[in-house]
Amino acid sequence: MIRVTAVAPDSLGSELEIVPGTDLISVNGRELHDFLDWEFLTADEQFVLLAQLPGGEMVEFDIERPEDLPTGVKLEAPRIRRCANHCDFCFVEGLPAGLREGLYIRDDDYRLSFRYGNFATLTNLKPADVSRILEYHLSPLYVSVHATDPVIRRRVLRNPRAPDILAQLRDFAAGGIRFHTQIVLQPGVNDGPVLRQSLEDLYALGDVVLSAAVVPVGLTAHSDHGASRQPTREECGAAVDTVRSFARRALVERGTRWVHGSDELYLVAGIELPGTEEYEDFDQVENGVGSVRFLQKRIDEGAGTLPDLSGRRIAVFTGTAMGRLMPEVLKTLATATGARFELSVLENNLFGPSVTTAALLPGSAFQRALAGAGPVDLALLPAEAVNDDGRFIDDMAFAELEAMSPVDVRLSHDFADALPLDPGE
Ligand code: SF4
Repeated sequence: MIRVTAVAPDSLGSELEIVPGTDLISVNGRELHDFLDWEFLTADEQFVLLAQLPGGEMVEFDIERPEDLPTGVKLEAPRIRRCANHCDFCFVEGLPAGLREGLYIRDDDYRLSFRYGNFATLTNLKPADVSRILEYHLSPLYVSVHATDPVIRRRVLRNPRAPDILAQLRDFAAGGIRFHTQIVLQPGVNDGPVLRQSLEDLYALGDVVLSAAVVPVGLTAHSDHGASRQPTREECGAAVDTVRSFARRALVERGTRWVHGSDELYLVAGIELPGTEEYEDFDQVENGVGSVRFLQKRIDEGAGTLPDLSGRRIAVFTGTAMGRLMPEVLKTLATATGARFELSVLENNLFGPSVTTAALLPGSAFQRALAGAGPVDLALLPAEAVNDDGRFIDDMAFAELEAMSPVDVRLSHDFADALPLDPGE
């Protein structure tokens, strides 16, 4: 059973007079458990829906849906599948109290992997989950592999019951499922020869593994530094070498580089990021793989549409990862608009300086920076620092920050989305 929370106008839901609070029970006699059941079982044009209206009345709808009519019902959020692992580097374990509520949930959910690209370890799958993945063809899945050697993987995940990931991937691949994979690099555990073997094994699975990413472990000031440590510059450099050698081979043999290091891996190694074209389709940009080049690409593509902002002063806030490369980006913007861009690189006052991504900067860091921004016309903040509800990681609402800010402040993904379109504005 799934509860409806909203119904869109001009949809099947509104035509059937389904209202928020209605419980959707089954489709064609099959019980509904979550959004996946709903989407897949109602994909046909004809189906029978059993629902219970908020007043308790059971209704059976015999539906023939015009092809282009959306179902239009918003469903309550599914109960997140909890993680069965205990990785030494778990970000959730390293969170201080008082942050956004949802952050404390250690999710490991194949449904979110399919829908949103969240990485899942596949260590908590029940037989029914495996059947669903195959039946609904949930592909591609985003899978945290970490190591293909089962013993080492169990050590990384701190889960003695973690199944053999290669066997799992093979079984799913036989059912037509494809994967984007990641290896979070824990120095002394799954780097060096273990990393090489893991990439070798994943590569050997063939084109069912669409991409692989190598990401250094990210610890915060609150993590258990006795259990895990950040890789050094040399260790990240060695991992970059491994990635590059596999990428060269894949390019020759398969016409794609296939494996990429995250931006952080290159930054810690002190090695220049690969060129934009090397990221190909930016398959794992949400995972911090190619984020900088992706941003530069978007800016370059949008440069021709930017307004004339001659004489304007615009403050740009970002984290230390992007801060190192931002001057290059801002030069392009200044040339395109005539504005003066003033960069402020913010250290993470919540998690400590080792956390460099702008996405994890708290609202309090921006609040402090805005107070000292000086006489600028506009301040731009990284849009990835807030969630879908407009809240920073420390639970401060963007609207709250905006109300306190002494200057006009906007969230921006790529500058073009936030710069005034009217030069007179
Ligand atoms: S898989 Fe590891 S890092 Fe991810 S939520 Fe579980 S314990 Fe944390």
